[in-house]
Amino acid sequence: MGNKVLVVDDQGFMRKMLGAMLGKHGYEVVGETDNGTEALELCKTLSPDIITLDNILPDMIGLDLVQDLRENMEKLPRIIMISAVSKQEVIDEGVGLGVSKYLIKPFTEDQLVEALNS
Ligand SMILES: [Mg+2]
Repeated sequence: MGNKVLVVDDQGFMRKMLGAMLGKHGYEVVGETDNGTEALELCKTLSPDIITLDNILPDMIGLDLVQDLRENMEKLPRIIMISAVSKQEVIDEGVGLGVSKYLIKPFTEDQLVEALNS
């Protein structure tokens, strides 16, 4: 299992926090972005092993990006959705699309590590 991570969240403090947590646990943040369009491009060029994905982005919702990734990537990275949206149907839809783990904000470092290791 590779350790290259792409961090996608429109909030700078969240990207910073995730970057610090990921680095502490041996993951390498290879890229970050605040929007879905760039996230798709970065996925193609950086081939991350894992994406942490916010669901509410300025240009699209994270679940739509998951759909785009499925259509555009030969190999889908592991996707850890990290969102304040806690509606069960959204979580179920994400899992149906191939999201590995769904973390609800605010989350703890332990929960993140557990999601990464699972
Ligand atoms: Mg957001």
